Amino acid sequence: MSNKPAIICVAITGSLPTKADNPAVPITVAEQVESTHAAFEAGATICHAHVRNDDGTPSSDPDRFAKLQEGLRAHCPGMIVQFSTGGRSGAGQQRGAMLPLRPDMASLSVGSNNFPTRVYENPPDLVTWLASQMRAHNIKPEVEAFDLSHIFRAKAMFDADEIVQTPYVQFVMGVKNAMPADRVVFDFYVKTVQRSFGDAQW
Ligand SMILES: [Zn+2]
Repeated sequence: MSNKPAIICVAITGSLPTKADNPAVPITVAEQVESTHAAFEAGATICHAHVRNDDGTPSSDPDRFAKLQEGLRAHCPGMIVQFSTGGRSGAGQQRGAMLPLRPDMASLSVGSNNFPTRVYENPPDLVTWLASQMRAHNIKPEVEAFDLSHIFRAKAMFDADEIVQTPYVQFVMGVKNAMPADRVVFDFYVKTVQRSFGDAQW
């Protein structure tokens, strides 16, 4: 183990939970800013953000992301803001329509897999486009590894200069029909990241 400090990333809203699931889930931008501020005060340094429509359904509306970004900059100075480009909140290039806002980071799913009731589609041309937008706007991608193949895909993108800095990798484990939360598998993921990218953060 190294002595590097841990990075706490707070995923404040996600794309699925509703107030019926948990009344504390922040849905409006005001609630999101308040909730993130509490996490920021408690030591979180990255905010992974989705936005919602007024009825609580997932959205990728750049105006909502802009309002959230403005609130977070005002109330959580220095916090790293990461926008989701995940596939539940829009289709195709809609998923990256907020990237011109230049968040510090954005999530980048580099391959497809199954979700509990649907296919999580990340076609190669869309992945390449999202990565190109992140490069154009100087946004650090967070590679979402839902599957082992996604780490290898990120390595290929890194070698092709489609991801220009050492990748920052998140292992997404425990999603039904995708990768389970399994210790042996996790250790192999970490080894694979280290073999691919040296001291990349995960
Ligand atoms: Zn997310």
